[in-house]
Amino acid sequence: MYEQEYTMISVEEARERILELVSVLEVVDVGIFEALDRVLAEDVYSDMNVPPLDNTAMDGYAVRAADTFGADRSNPVSLQVIFDLAAGYTTDVSVHSGTAIRIMTGAPIPPGADAVVPFEETDEAQVGFAGLPTSQGGGRWVKIFKAAKLGANIRRAGEDLREGERILALGTVVRPPEIGLLSSVGRSRVQVHRRPRVAIIATGDELVEINQRPGPGQIRNSNNYTVAAGVLRYGGIPLMLGIARDSHEDLSRKIKDGLENGADLIITSGGVSVGDFDVVKQVLAAEGEIRFWRVRMKPGKPLAFGHIQGVPHLGLPGNPVSTAVAFELFVRPALLKMQGKTRFNKPEVEAVFQDSIPRKDDRRHYLRVVLDRREGQYVARLTGEQGSGILTSMVKANGLAIIPEDARSVAPGEKVRVMLLDWPEES
Ligand code: AMP
Ligand code: MG
Repeated sequence: MYEQEYTMISVEEARERILELVSVLEVVDVGIFEALDRVLAEDVYSDMNVPPLDNTAMDGYAVRAADTFGADRSNPVSLQVIFDLAAGYTTDVSVHSGTAIRIMTGAPIPPGADAVVPFEETDEAQVGFAGLPTSQGGGRWVKIFKAAKLGANIRRAGEDLREGERILALGTVVRPPEIGLLSSVGRSRVQVHRRPRVAIIATGDELVEINQRPGPGQIRNSNNYTVAAGVLRYGGIPLMLGIARDSHEDLSRKIKDGLENGADLIITSGGVSVGDFDVVKQVLAAEGEIRFWRVRMKPGKPLAFGHIQGVPHLGLPGNPVSTAVAFELFVRPALLKMQGKTRFNKPEVEAVFQDSIPRKDDRRHYLRVVLDRREGQYVARLTGEQGSGILTSMVKANGLAIIPEDARSVAPGEKVRVMLLDWPEES
């Protein structure tokens, strides 16, 4: 019955319809570490100038630039050192003509000074502070070997942040530098979008839990764990609801469990094709609404999408590779949208295909490949047998080669697009 009612749609259309139905979740106030990798739901303003005062960018001597004009190694200028100033302190001792204040990075520029000469351009570089003569008839002296420009090595008040300025815009993804910036304006809490709670349910009479040894005809339920790990990676909270048997009642009971536990999204795997025990579509149709259930792709053609009591439900195909690929293409973008993100595409590169594959249908194929860079170009090699039950083919892959719907066959040396799964650190 479903075959007639629903046509097979493209990957793009499927994704569009999913993203249309899922909505951005509410805003919550969290501690800044909790905000990592999440999206700011507010504009953030600076409560002060950063840095608050003009200060030195170097360890050295605060001077009057005019005093140093014409100085060089053969003709140094001697200045009397009248004070030492460390970061964290201020002084009202002024630098007058002929004098200097020894000053450490970050310390405020003392009154009267208009440049900082780094140690490297003084005789302190040669003798080191410990060896600097402290008294040369009435005080410490320093020899300046290089003329300082007005303002040299001075960081101006407010040069990083100005009081009242918007420093982070709503919609920004928070990374470690953003956490640093929030800290520098005194924000220990910030508003972000709530993490989605995701009900995860496997279906199948053949499934046993992973701490059990499968009996005859049984296999372990790995899909729930693949999905849950993906949910965690992309910022969601997995609700592990276990295995539903292939019966309408059992599956609806598990879905009800999920809804009662505040699920924002329901993910099932298996039970979605046209076999005798494919209950997902029945339950979805009876208790909610099916929006589509077939996508022109391989692996993963049977993919049911709809909602139950307004909560989006994605019924992933049961084969472990299909589950993993459908997660990448559909669940991941849904999770990202719920958290306020607006970029959903993994990077793609063009690569030279190393194998040959025949084609018998007009679906888009996602092939598991190892992508390498060789002599300035990317090359993609199949990870082996591509059956949708062969999870090791996914484990070995760092990319999915995308073979378009209208491609006939692909021969070695042909160019293909490859979607990067996780681009690892290169060295
Ligand atoms: P189905 O779509 O329910 O017909 O399942 C397709 C294939 O995927 C069958 O071989 C199932 O045994 C397998 N499968 C279904 N669910 C899971 C699961 N949770 N973990 C591992 N394999 C599964
Ligand atoms: Mg099944």
